[in-house]
Amino acid sequence: AAPADSPLLENLNPEQRAAVTLPAGNALILAGAGSGKTRVLTTRIAWLLQTGQVSPGGILAVTFTNKAAKEMMTRLGAMLPVNVRGMWIGTFHGLCNRFLRAHWKLAGLPSTFQILDTQDQLSAIKRLMKQFNVDDERFPAKQTQWFIAGAKEDGLRPRDVEARSDDDRKKIELYQLYEEQCQREGVVDFGELMLRSYELLRDNDPVREHYQRRFRHILIDEFQDTNRLQYAWIKMLAGNTADGRFVPGDNSVVAVGDDDQSIYAFRGARVGNMADFVREFEVSHQIKLEQNYRSYSNILDSANELISHNKKRLGKNLRTDQGPGEPVRVYESTSDFAEAQWVVEEMRQLMRDGIDRKEMAILYRSNAQSRVLETALFNAAVPYRVYGGLRFFERAEIKHALAYLRILENKDDDTSFLRIVNFPPRGIGARSIEALQDAARAAGRSLHDAVSAVGGKAGGNLSAFVAKIDVLREQTQGMSLREIIELVLDHSGLIEHYKADREGADRIENLEELVNAAESFVTQEGFGRDAVALPVDELRQSSVSQGLDPNRPLLDEPLAPDAETGETLSPLAAFLTHAALESGDNQAQAGQDAVQLMTVHAAKGLEFDCVFITGLEEGLFPHENSMSDYESLEEERRLMYVAITRARKRLYLSHSQTRLLHGQTRYNIKSRFFDELPEGALKWLTPKNQGGFAPSAFGYGGGYATSRGAGSSYGRETFASPPVPPQKAAPSHGLRSGMQVFHNKFGEGTITALEGSGDDARAQVNFPRHGVKWLALSVAKLTPVT
Ligand code: ATP
Ligand code: MG
Repeated sequence: AAPADSPLLENLNPEQRAAVTLPAGNALILAGAGSGKTRVLTTRIAWLLQTGQVSPGGILAVTFTNKAAKEMMTRLGAMLPVNVRGMWIGTFHGLCNRFLRAHWKLAGLPSTFQILDTQDQLSAIKRLMKQFNVDDERFPAKQTQWFIAGAKEDGLRPRDVEARSDDDRKKIELYQLYEEQCQREGVVDFGELMLRSYELLRDNDPVREHYQRRFRHILIDEFQDTNRLQYAWIKMLAGNTADGRFVPGDNSVVAVGDDDQSIYAFRGARVGNMADFVREFEVSHQIKLEQNYRSYSNILDSANELISHNKKRLGKNLRTDQGPGEPVRVYESTSDFAEAQWVVEEMRQLMRDGIDRKEMAILYRSNAQSRVLETALFNAAVPYRVYGGLRFFERAEIKHALAYLRILENKDDDTSFLRIVNFPPRGIGARSIEALQDAARAAGRSLHDAVSAVGGKAGGNLSAFVAKIDVLREQTQGMSLREIIELVLDHSGLIEHYKADREGADRIENLEELVNAAESFVTQEGFGRDAVALPVDELRQSSVSQGLDPNRPLLDEPLAPDAETGETLSPLAAFLTHAALESGDNQAQAGQDAVQLMTVHAAKGLEFDCVFITGLEEGLFPHENSMSDYESLEEERRLMYVAITRARKRLYLSHSQTRLLHGQTRYNIKSRFFDELPEGALKWLTPKNQGGFAPSAFGYGGGYATSRGAGSSYGRETFASPPVPPQKAAPSHGLRSGMQVFHNKFGEGTITALEGSGDDARAQVNFPRHGVKWLALSVAKLTPVT
């Protein structure tokens, strides 16, 4: 008998208590954000254990992330003296891995099977395609990978996939070959973990029956984001199919979810699983939780009002007893850079008010947006942590691009050489690289220089690569930093490579963001150069530090000229320094008190005292790919609902008039979501509608009236509002590219490029005897030679 007065039940409201103490049977808890779903799930496990209804081994609990699983175990451990580590609590992938480890033989795997991550999987597919001479223009490896992953998510083996075209047949054949290769090598990818464990349950009656008897209670959090295969897997554990119809078993399945927070449709999640669950599992109890314990009512009202604009909803209410709290603050900035500055300023104020850094989060719609924010935090020396993704300069695609740039700057950089010698793949295998490394070692030269010593076909491929790099280096002479990076992205094949990638869009965005990073580094409001804060020791050793006042703030040193000759690092070299420093160990360690940065997707299920939602602009959030059809727009709105409901005490919303995105400045209008929020809950920190653009002038014409040949007042309004990008002052030095000049140390040379203005003006000069130099015009005396 269950003690109704268990201390576990003390801090629950009546509905939550009912959910925690539900009798055996299948149940759905459908409730809005912050209503205690996860808390109910965790407490129910503790309660089942405490009341002796089940032993720890009889529980199966599925969470959406490893972080959530850990948190659940920690909380359970705090509530009860149980060995939580032995319990089956984890993500779908984690649990399937555990299951296959236990039954590797039956699953047809070696006992030591290894897991391929997405990158490894791609290399495996590429290797295979090469072996079978598959035309990778027609069948890009990334597409094949996508095809295979998608089929597995739907529970389909090659023989189950329907072929609608010759291309399909080819892809199915590749899927088949890929499976054989994985099997031979004893590896499984993420999809395989799930599918293989599903099949084992399906095909092996004793195993299935064993687990059906064992797991008396199955609990699933974030059920709205399960895909087809995950749902089918749950069914295997909790019932049987008789006469083609699913019949629930006698174990209890409790699913917890919120249709308004379904945000993974693009990865195969099916909200429809909720309705199917109610029907197929003959759900006897449906519980709604309507009290929100997370947020003050200004925040909650905003979330409720926003989501009420969605038509496809199961319908729930949420209220709070917490009182209005602070208003939701709205800020409009002139640029993404200014937006980041504002966020950092606000955060500093919050810290002074005694709020922990880890209680502050900055959310954004796509990963590429984090760079500007990271730089601003870095400059302000605020420790931060980027969740669910790497810091900008540590991302693989960025590291690849930087490696190309580094090798242009220094042909002997072997690390960079190795990173890109076969990336994108150009048929240079491990053997050839080994041969090259041997030759380089023997001759005591860099890999780049040793290429000529390798013969045969391998030598040919290597020479072609080196020739390509040397041509690139030649071509980039005299180019601006931006042009160099664009050329490298293009000619390295990186962009093309990622175009064929399932997750490539994000990577391409990041690569384009690298162009922006460079652009800001060189030109913007002192932004880029401020970002370069050299450690003192490094500065002392660095030649550029000569003659500098040691008490001066160590900010823009890499571009600071040598006191005698005026020589500076090239913008490229300075930028690479900046990138290396920023990706260093300055990142706050896990557990350290740091502000949190993440995409809205990654924030699901989490909560923070203070939340900043940035980049609320049409085309960004809602995302431009989702603006044209209604279903996707509803998913964007759910995403916004998730974002708003992460906040406990304070919520900040910001948008910017301009933003450097995909390599160009965009003039953005504020997100339509602002119009879907209750005016009474908001506080505009900047005048509402300030700088009201005529959006049509900037390509966002949909739904907004434009007037052709409008009167002058309209014209003024349209064109006076967008902030004028900082004008480059006309060069006062009178130098031009191509001019012959004289330098008192390096002699005569030709100007190949000019950058910056005023005190920051620099020239790239090619001196026949001293090579290419970058010179600060404020120091170097360059006299035109006539
Ligand atoms: P999400 O939809 O975002 O996943 P959720 O429904 O899972 O949210 P929880 O994270 O479980 O909500 O709870 C939100 C917050 O409210 C937590 O801090 C939790 O501890 C607190 N909470 C839940 N129920 C109560 C209660 N009865 N009394 C006090 N605090 C509560
Ligand atoms: Mg939750």
